[in-house]
Amino acid sequence: MLPRRRCPFCRRWFHPHPRLKQRQKTCGRADCCRKQKKRSNQQWRTDHPDYFRDTYAHQKEIYGTRADYKRRYREQHPDYVRRNAAFVRKWRLRLRSTPVSPTSPDLHVTIESERASLRIAQVSHTSRDIFVTLFPA
Ligand SMILES: [Zn+2]
Repeated sequence: MLPRRRCPFCRRWFHPHPRLKQRQKTCGRADCCRKQKKRSNQQWRTDHPDYFRDTYAHQKEIYGTRADYKRRYREQHPDYVRRNAAFVRKWRLRLRSTPVSPTSPDLHVTIESERASLRIAQVSHTSRDIFVTLFPA
């Protein structure tokens, strides 16, 4: 068994895995592994500061701006445009058909009852329906 080491994050002692040996940096708990990965990524970015620089500029040179790319994509994919238009139409229709708010003065309740006087006991609502509980007065 390899000599035990201390995890730099949780400070617990651990025995490194026989295959990983001295390369194992943490105790192996998910939280410590995540911290180790974050730290090594930060270290790598400090060591290679220019690696991600100018990526967007380079892509822009090849594909144009995002708007250019979208416009070209729409020109080349009429099926996508049709499908998307149908989706948007459906979405707008659903938006328009949202129910009136429970506090709206336009709310009408039709009651088919022989009784002349009723008492509203409770009013509740979901995003789609309004529930009114009535009791005889
Ligand atoms: Zn740990």
